[in-house]
Amino acid sequence: MNLRRLALLLLFALPAASHADGDHDWGARYIANAGVMVERGDTKILFDPFFRDGFGLYDLVPEDIEAALFDGVSPWDGIDAIFISHYHGDHFHPGVVTDYLRRWPSVHAYAPQQAVDALIAADDGASDELLGRIHAIDLERDSDALEFELGGLFIEAVRIAHAGWPRRHSDTENIVYRVTLDDSATVMHLGDADSGREHYEVHDDYWQKRTSDLALVPVWLMLSEKGKHVVDEHVDAEHEIGMHVYKSIPDDPAEREPKFDGLDIFTEPGETRRWEE
Ligand SMILES: [Zn+2]
Ligand SMILES: [Zn+2]
Repeated sequence: MNLRRLALLLLFALPAASHADGDHDWGARYIANAGVMVERGDTKILFDPFFRDGFGLYDLVPEDIEAALFDGVSPWDGIDAIFISHYHGDHFHPGVVTDYLRRWPSVHAYAPQQAVDALIAADDGASDELLGRIHAIDLERDSDALEFELGGLFIEAVRIAHAGWPRRHSDTENIVYRVTLDDSATVMHLGDADSGREHYEVHDDYWQKRTSDLALVPVWLMLSEKGKHVVDEHVDAEHEIGMHVYKSIPDDPAEREPKFDGLDIFTEPGETRRWEE
């Protein structure tokens, strides 16, 4: 083939090809409750993926999805890191997380100190190699964000009070992660964040520092005036998806109560959203 023809072919073929293999799009895939996978090309992360309690109210991880994660079956393969928001049974099960990390020795985990303590307590045979991949986020309320880098991930973490503050769960370390994948897509996961604006106002510089393309928000922040304020004024992401939704909420938006009108929420394990960069 002559060079001119090759150049022409490349000119027309490349954009279509790179689009087709997904190099320039990224997305989120619902696991269950607050469990979500975010993927951009080969870079993939999981938030709150392994837990055992739904309290009868929330989706549990379907067996086939958990099996695919453990077996590394596409699209649930090639995970770089998992992020645990807090040590509650509808977000985190120490034994399952440890089993997964043993199964996949390239995966790192980030979790609040409370959850890491539980991991160690549940597994006194944990090796130094395993513990070296489990990164404890040791943060007080209102203290400055922590930053980490791991391969194509830039990770920021801040502690925001758990919902119910100050009456319930006030000592629960709830971590809000903001993760940038390959310097391009930035995703925030709010765990079980409370709606009080005082938790967010003290971190104003942090919210301003980087815009999130996507925020994964516990749905109660989308349904109350207090919650809407912090989502709009502080979190301020390009897209917001509600999670931690009752499993009784219909998958079909047309069948939902009016309060969900216009809200994008995850209800069906495995469902996806995708965006072009
Ligand atoms: Zn919780
Ligand atoms: Zn929860």
